[in-house]
Amino acid sequence: MPAFRGVDFYQVDGLLTEEEQLVRDTVRDWVQEKVLPVIGGHFRAGTFPRDLIPQMASMGMLGANLEGYGCAGLGAVATGLIMQELERGDSGLRSFASVQGSLVMYPIREYGSEEQRRRWLPAMARGEAIGCYGLTEPDGGSNPGAMRTRAVRKGDRWILDGAKAWITNGTIADVAVVWARTDEGIRGFLVERGTRGFSSRDHVGKFSLRASVTSELIFQECEIPLENILPASRGLKSPLSCLTPARYGISWGTIGSAMAVYDEALSYAKTRVVFGKPIAGHQIQQAKLVWMLSEITKGQLLNLQLGRLKEKGLATPQQVSLGKRNGCCVARECARLGREILGANGIMDEYQAGRHLCNIESVYTYEGTHDIHTLILGEAITGIPAYQG
Ligand SMILES: Cc1cc2nc3c(=O)[nH]c(=O)nc-3n(C[C@H](O)[C@H](O)[C@H](O)COP(=O)(O)OP(=O)(O)OC[C@H]3O[C@@H](n4cnc5c(N)ncnc54)[C@H](O)[C@@H]3O)c2cc1C
Repeated sequence: MPAFRGVDFYQVDGLLTEEEQLVRDTVRDWVQEKVLPVIGGHFRAGTFPRDLIPQMASMGMLGANLEGYGCAGLGAVATGLIMQELERGDSGLRSFASVQGSLVMYPIREYGSEEQRRRWLPAMARGEAIGCYGLTEPDGGSNPGAMRTRAVRKGDRWILDGAKAWITNGTIADVAVVWARTDEGIRGFLVERGTRGFSSRDHVGKFSLRASVTSELIFQECEIPLENILPASRGLKSPLSCLTPARYGISWGTIGSAMAVYDEALSYAKTRVVFGKPIAGHQIQQAKLVWMLSEITKGQLLNLQLGRLKEKGLATPQQVSLGKRNGCCVARECARLGREILGANGIMDEYQAGRHLCNIESVYTYEGTHDIHTLILGEAITGIPAYQG
């Protein structure tokens, strides 16, 4: 596969620090050398490239923005650039890093006891322990407030009953952060692999995120020691707070996916000769490439400003929603256009466009669907919530 040349029409690189560029280039080279040669095979086979985890860990990609406990403590922009490059490789790989860092390490850091932090965070940063995050239930994910999974305290145990669906890393996780209704409201629990009453199985038949593990978690009178509750978790705002950093990573990652398909489509269009000249010389194909470039450039600038706001502690969840919603739209349309430019070859998995096109359907749906982010933004600008009407 030809080396990725980068997409930087507006000299956005010049707005990055040297450290940020170094982080980006290190991950970019690694994706080129280690991910792209194998990811198509994993997508075809429906397997997750587990052997890449130690390499991701050694480069500080797991929980990259967290401080202490063996984490890299990178800034928001550097962390975003990691996500951009990972998703340029494959959305499944970025999903793994997002879940591990934002959805599991973050709540343990934020709501866990000191003992829980010491036990899990360094091991997760080293990639020796894998986590998953169980919020969505089979009856619906858009309204987590309707969750049915329940934990009841009995003596020195919590007894957990219920099910979670569509859980990334579910069957390979050593620990699941599980959200359940209790008499005190919604609380988070650490459910360890092998706990009695806890089982998991993979969703089979996916056409999207095939190089990622997606599973159901089932809890039947599952006994959890008292010390496995996340002590500082309180109410629905705790699980929702984890979604904001994950959505931030998606805002960057999706632009990485769009960059991958744009780069591929541009190379292809310059060499594919139809009607006596390269298809890049036909106006309609140029219009498609220009649309892709414009949206990628706008997405890069949006992400950079979002990252700078986050570094100052000023980014709001609604601004993150706009970034996630925008990135998914851009990546979805770029993958469709890239596939189109490749003609029949675009349906083959030796090219990237089809894989990104399929993957982005999941990214468009998880971490709040496009519709839900529209409603979040609609409420932000009008002051009127429209979720139920
Ligand atoms: C590959 C993959 C990995 C995932 N990983 C995880 C994970 O690790 N952990 C986790 O907890 N979850 C995970 N999810 C679940 C994901 O977050 C949910 O699928 C998502 O929140 C949507 O929920 P749903 O699929 O139940 O759709 P539903 O909530 O049933 O929504 C169906 C449709 O109705 C629309 N809709 C819903 N409410 C409204 C409304 N008020 N107004 C207008 N339209 C509305 C939605 O936009 C959508 O188009 C994953 C999903 C996928 C596909």
